[in-house]
Amino acid sequence: MKVTEHIREANGKTLFSLEIIPPLKGQHIGELIGAIEPLMEFKPPFIDVTYHREELIEKRHPNGLIEKVPVRRRPGTVGICARLMERFKVDAVPHVICGGFTKDETEDFLYDLHYLGIDNVLILRGDPEKSAGVFRSKEGGHRYASELVAQVADMNRGRLLHEETEASPTNFCMGVAGYPEKHFEAPNLGNDLKYLKEKVDLGAEYIVTQMFFDNQKYFDFVNRCREAGINVPIIPGLKPLSTKKQLSVLPRIFHLDMPEELVKAVEACATDKDVKQVGIEWAIQQCKELQQFGAPVLHFYTMARSENVQTIARAIF
Ligand code: FAD
Repeated sequence: MKVTEHIREANGKTLFSLEIIPPLKGQHIGELIGAIEPLMEFKPPFIDVTYHREELIEKRHPNGLIEKVPVRRRPGTVGICARLMERFKVDAVPHVICGGFTKDETEDFLYDLHYLGIDNVLILRGDPEKSAGVFRSKEGGHRYASELVAQVADMNRGRLLHEETEASPTNFCMGVAGYPEKHFEAPNLGNDLKYLKEKVDLGAEYIVTQMFFDNQKYFDFVNRCREAGINVPIIPGLKPLSTKKQLSVLPRIFHLDMPEELVKAVEACATDKDVKQVGIEWAIQQCKELQQFGAPVLHFYTMARSENVQTIARAIF
């Protein structure tokens, strides 16, 4: 079933969902499955699985030469999706990114998903390669998520890149990313919303937000979207804080503000166990307000760990 159908069927009730990240190459999948299993009691109708492009890593040869080789450190997105559908009978939402793909490779990748019975995709540009710092598309690939949305919309209409005759249409429900505190490259939120609207106008049916710790940012974002004529469901993305280090790491990586009250509470903690408790309480409060506001889904970035999300979900659902 499509994410939008789950939301419609819930009839105003807030749903629970999660995003997971594939394990590092070489690690066992069992750990990931075991970590999310306890969350199944909250009946997530769908689970997102992130996609990770190749990164250049340095390989030292016996002669001392150092070569930079492209390596995908977290492969397995599609396999994990298949496993989730079979094991938990949930809808899997693989993330599909522009980075590292030509348009033709994207078309083939989408066919793999289609043949597996996957009808949901979260369409993203993708993170810049760490070594480059700025996003660079592969030659013959897409520069922006909107271009990828347009390609999937064409496939949904039975139009392929090089076929003259009409193909059997795919049936993908597309989600896209939104940034309550604006995307870091955008000069301002208004400009960012212009491109967000473009993604929706081209066929995206819902938005999942970047994590935020101040609900007011989400409320303002939803209002700005509605004013801009973006009328699709906007799913808040949530991450419970669990270490003191995250106070500086998360704002740096995800370009967000930490509310002063949360910073003070975390700084007063003696151990990370105390921080985890503060993070849980903060997230529960966030969830209650978001539920009241009418958020369609509470979507948790679990990073393949579930204890704190379990405690939060128990308090909410
Ligand atoms: P876009 O919508 O393409 O926007 C990127 C920037 O370009 C924005 O500043 C926008 O304002 C601007 N822009 C858009 N269109 C145009 C245009 N036509 N002309 C000029 N400027 C334009 N990354 C991964 O690699 N893998 C994942 O699995 C993944 N999952 C994510 C899940 C969520 C919910 C979120 C919020 C992010 C995720 N990311 C993931 C990170 C994401 O790829 C990065 O944030 C990336 O930098 C932007 O992606 P986007 O799809 O928002 O890009």
